[in-house]
Amino acid sequence: MAIDRRHVLRGALAAGIVAAVPARAARQAAIPGVVGEGARLVEVHAGGRWCEGPVWDRRTSTLVFSDVRANRLLRLEPDGARPIRDPSGFANGNAFDRQGRLVTCEHLGRRLVRQEADGRLTVLVDRFRGRRLNAPNDLAIALDGAIWFTDPTFGLTQPEEGRMAPPELPGRYVFRLDPDGTLDVVADSLEQPNGIVFSPDERTLYVSDTSAADGREGRRAIHAFDVVGRRRLARQRLFADVETGIPDGLEVDAAGRVFAATDRGATIWSPDGALLGHIATPATCGNLAFGGADGQRLFLCCGASIHAIGTTTRGAAWA
Ligand code: MG
Repeated sequence: MAIDRRHVLRGALAAGIVAAVPARAARQAAIPGVVGEGARLVEVHAGGRWCEGPVWDRRTSTLVFSDVRANRLLRLEPDGARPIRDPSGFANGNAFDRQGRLVTCEHLGRRLVRQEADGRLTVLVDRFRGRRLNAPNDLAIALDGAIWFTDPTFGLTQPEEGRMAPPELPGRYVFRLDPDGTLDVVADSLEQPNGIVFSPDERTLYVSDTSAADGREGRRAIHAFDVVGRRRLARQRLFADVETGIPDGLEVDAAGRVFAATDRGATIWSPDGALLGHIATPATCGNLAFGGADGQRLFLCCGASIHAIGTTTRGAAWA
């Protein structure tokens, strides 16, 4: 493909228009400060199995994502999705570090890996005090380079998302991996920690607790914690909960609003926990991320497909 055409198509991807995929649009009710009246949800990827871990790659202006159940890590190019790793070790959450290296949670290897500039994978962590992690699910990288991640057991109990195995750890923790390699438990109070995101000032950490996904009565809540000295958590409180489904992946915008992937689509709260509304998706949303050149597009992973919508806000990383 000629470079000029790629460039044009890449711009089209950033605008949420992908010629190769037929767009199915739906009208959206306005949410003040978030989406305007009639904002259109557009399908940008289809034919997946369970799309997850979306993250915008600013170097290439493309969306990187996992298809957990297809066991692949992909990049959404202007003319379709291309595998980055196939198989991916049942990759789930993804994030770029300050050096632009992709850090990925792997269910199968029960580890965090980082892809170096030459393509090699570095295992960042796979054990805590000699015992294997459960199945790292999602992560947030702080400005100081520490990687905060959740380690529920879904990758050990859902055969389509990993390999059935008994856990070695006595709990399901939120961990902080220091740049020097030190691994600490920062929260042990959640039943199945899942989505994780910092407020824009990194003074608050939001973590979803999703034991309701185990098919029994369980939690479907988002908890907030104060981040103390960049190293530990304090003052845990219930931030929000949902009535059905679970709040899976989390995202924040530049104004500190919290976005959760839910069975409604994206559910959005103000920083003080007031429900602002929903961006409806055609199927349960598992994770979401801001992207596009200006950080104003919200990408929503909805099972087999990924959708995008233009917002009137922008991701915290673009603040
Ligand atoms: Mg998750």
